[in-house]
Amino acid sequence: MSGEHILVVEDERDLREVLAYNLRKEGFQVSTASTGRDGLDAARSRKPDLILLDLMLPDLDGLEICRLVRQDPKLSATAIIMVTAKGEETDVVVGLGVGADDYIPKPFRVKEVVARVKAVLRRGHGQTEQTGARPLRRGALEIDPARHEVLVEGASVPFTATEFRLLHFLASSPGRVYERDTLLRRVLGDDAIRVERNIDVHIRAIRKKLGEHRDLIETVRGVGYKFRDAGATSG
Ligand code: CA
Repeated sequence: MSGEHILVVEDERDLREVLAYNLRKEGFQVSTASTGRDGLDAARSRKPDLILLDLMLPDLDGLEICRLVRQDPKLSATAIIMVTAKGEETDVVVGLGVGADDYIPKPFRVKEVVARVKAVLRRGHGQTEQTGARPLRRGALEIDPARHEVLVEGASVPFTATEFRLLHFLASSPGRVYERDTLLRRVLGDDAIRVERNIDVHIRAIRKKLGEHRDLIETVRGVGYKFRDAGATSG
């Protein structure tokens, strides 16, 4: 059993208990919080491997918590799955933009939640072995999968897990064009619910972080995205 630590932030008691019970049964360590503030405190003190984060909470909402967790360098390894109610599609897109790794719409089957949790954890931890520890150098960028770090002109820029996977994937094959759905499948997994426009949100966030090197990621109209071919030095 993995023993990885999951923090469940959910204000509905029945849901919280059923999630905690089933995750524990799968061998995870589980802590719970019923409000946004308690959730944020628990995240900061316990540094969980993954947060199952309800979007609608009585005090701090899930998006705000997601944003705050992502701003905290000590929580850079923590994955976030947002749990959303119907009709919150817009919030989902925003959520992915502020660094959630995946989302699960309510109502859900507990089995599905457990499967998603495992998939996200597997992706996060499996990345280094899959891609090798060798940093990619692309012009002014250095992308280091072993350290999960992106250097832009030598300065470290914080990337979320999803943004990192997307950038690393694109940069691994400069000049190759990928469709949106392919990219989503690649970074979120086959079992995730994929909304094609979400990829645009991730790309926008990545470009913003690349600053004046934003053109390294090119939009291919009507198709998807590619990493610019020129400027590749080694790989
Ligand atoms: Ca709620």
